Amino acid sequence: MKNIPTVAKQELEKLLTGNKNFIAGRPTAKNMCLKTLQNLALYQEPYACVLSCSDSRVVPEIIFDCGIGELFVVRVAGIAVGPNVKESIEYAVKKLHVPLLILLGHDDCGVMKYANEQYPNMPDNFQSILKSVYPVIDGVGKFDCNNKFAQKHTFWVEDYLMQNSDIIRNSVEKNKLYIAKCHFNHHSGEVILL
Ligand SMILES: [Zn+2]
Repeated sequence: MKNIPTVAKQELEKLLTGNKNFIAGRPTAKNMCLKTLQNLALYQEPYACVLSCSDSRVVPEIIFDCGIGELFVVRVAGIAVGPNVKESIEYAVKKLHVPLLILLGHDDCGVMKYANEQYPNMPDNFQSILKSVYPVIDGVGKFDCNNKFAQKHTFWVEDYLMQNSDIIRNSVEKNKLYIAKCHFNHHSGEVILL
């Protein structure tokens, strides 16, 4: 973990430790009760924003061993970025001042499978999602492995955010935000840094 701003590094280490707790079957998150919610009724101070897939197996609070108020989570199928997703992340960066953005792709992603099957056709359905995934196939061709595809796409998502969001790019350039590219393995339960 070189060249990561100190605060972001601390938060990232905390989340990766939480992931180890999850894998070990020893979660420690305590702030999951009504009392916690009531304490946070009028404000929030999440320490990270997580962009994850809507996939039912990828639940950031559980796999990172977190409770209420810790993560600002944006979930969309295939972590397919577009204006709404970008602006949701911008809110976390500009208004909530999160120092860490985690882009969390995962194994066996249905969007990657579908895109690999359909490319280069543009079917009537799911067009905005496919438009956020097809550029990864452009130029390199279809992927033999959907998990590798998802990992490449995670980097593409970072590029998209850096190119299309002044708020995100400026925060990264000023070392106020670090973007961690991660991948979730369904067999081990592990979140790895890409
Ligand atoms: Zn997925």
